[in-house]
Parts: sequence; C-alpha cells; structure tokens
Amino acid sequence: MKKITKVNKRLLIQIAVLITVIISAFNHYLISINEPIPWISESIFHYICPTCGVTSIYQFITSSTLWVDKIKSILGIVIGLSIILTIILGPVICGFICPFGVIQDLVARVGKKIFRGKYNNFISKKLDNKLEYLRYISLVLAVILTASSSVMVLEAINPYHAFLGIFNRSSISLIGVFILILIILGSLFIQRPWCKYLCPYGAFLGIFNKFKVFRVVRDKDRCLNCKRCNKKCPMGIEIQTNQALRDVRCISCLDCVDKKVCPKANTIYFTSKDLEENTNLDESLEVK
Ligand code: SF4
Ligand code: SF4
Repeated sequence: MKKITKVNKRLLIQIAVLITVIISAFNHYLISINEPIPWISESIFHYICPTCGVTSIYQFITSSTLWVDKIKSILGIVIGLSIILTIILGPVICGFICPFGVIQDLVARVGKKIFRGKYNNFISKKLDNKLEYLRYISLVLAVILTASSSVMVLEAINPYHAFLGIFNRSSISLIGVFILILIILGSLFIQRPWCKYLCPYGAFLGIFNKFKVFRVVRDKDRCLNCKRCNKKCPMGIEIQTNQALRDVRCISCLDCVDKKVCPKANTIYFTSKDLEENTNLDESLEVK
C-alpha cells in the first residue's frame, strides 16, 4: 500500500492511457483476423499520435466538407476538445495523455537512477536553446508532407507508429524503428528528447502557452531561489527566473507545483489568477 501511494497521479493517468492505446492497437490486429474486442475502438491510438495530430488538424481545416458537418464529426469533436483543453490548461495532452510522453518518462526514471544529479544536464543550456527550434522545422515539415499528400513518408518516420507496430502487427519502417531506439536511448540521458526537440504536435500545442488561462505563477518575494522547481521540470525550463510562466515548452505536467518540491509554502501555483489575487491557495488549482 505504501508503494502505491508513492506513485504520482500523473503517472497513473499516463500509464492508463498507454495501456488503452496498446489494447486499441492490438485490437486493430484482432479486427484483421475477425476476432475484435467489441468494446474498444481500434482507432483510439490515431487520435493521440504526435504527428497524426498535425495531419488531422491540417486535413480538417482544408477538407471541402461543410464546416457544420466537420464540427459534428468525431474528428471535429476530438480536435475541438483538444484545443479548448489546451487554451484553458496548456498542453496537458503532452503532460498527461501522450503515450509517447509516458514512454520517455518511464525511461527517464531509469536514467535518473543511473545518472542521479547529472541526468538532464548533459546538454548545455546554449545548445538546448538552439535545438529547441528543431521542433518548429518538424512542424513545418509535417504540414508540407501532409499538404503534398506524402502522409506515408510522415508515418514511416514516426517513432510512435513504430512502437505501436509491435502491437498492431502492421509493417514497421526501419527509419521509424531507428528513431524510436534513438529516442528511448536519448531518454536515458535527457528527459523527453522527442518532446523537447522533435515533436511537431508539441510545437503546435506549445504556442497556446502564450495565452492559456491557467499557468505556473511564482511569488518572487517568497521564492528562495533554490531552483528545486527547475530541477523537477522535465522540459528543462528555468521556472525560477519567471513570475508568470508562459514558456512555449511547458507541457502543463504540474510537477513544479507539487507541494513536495518547493520548500516554501504558497510560493508556486498553477492558477488562472494574477499574483496579487493568489492570497488564497485554496482557490488555485493545486495538484498532488
Ligand atoms: S514548467 Fe512546470 S508545468 Fe511546465 S513543464 Fe515544467 S514542471 Fe511541468
Ligand atoms: S522551488 Fe520554490 S523556492 Fe525554490 S526556486 Fe522554485 S519557487 Fe523558488
């Protein structure tokens, strides 16, 4: 029982989604042999794919179907809910739902055990800031490939598809497997390398951080500048230099506002209110 209470809520949500996605991918195979699991859709894994997200939004916007019909479609509802959720809370899809995020987070747990304090510090801040722009190149590439009807190329280089190919028995591209292995190995040294440097959907959703309703707010007058929140951040954001965090890399994982992280109570919150209004912690959205 003690061990179960130690596992954080975010990890439990992530693992539940990952298992659902794996079952859904396996059901894709079962359908092909006429033995489907009746209560689970084979397409769930498509809806939470880091590259299909960009492809789906592009195709949704550019399709010639009437907007009223588009919005009523399942894809329209999924995209609409994702955008509304992201406008309110930021990219929680990345922090809590993306199965590829949880794979990296699980490998990170091993990396942290091996390298301890050195983990996530193998790349200089200067290089990290430059590599960060790669995911915008990845986003532009995803849009170009979708627009030029080359979605097959995008699927071939998609490590998420390579991973799910193990379960849905579809043909797996060697490039996809290569990128998957690189990301898994990279996660042993750096937390979430795919999300930080390559994910096109993360690049898109990250833009909403600039105007999301809830954000991380730090009371600089109470802050001890201990940088414990920085060390906890999987995306390597320097939280302690910000008062109201609007960094495009934030994945709204809420790790930094964990009560166990900050040594000074009532200093860092995830809230929709401005700092002056944050006198009552109960009104802010606290986790864990
Ligand atoms: S700033 Fe906080 S909420 Fe955002 S990614 Fe870092 S730890 Fe998560
Ligand atoms: S953990 Fe708390 S006290 Fe330490 S730098 Fe972050 S906000 Fe400031």
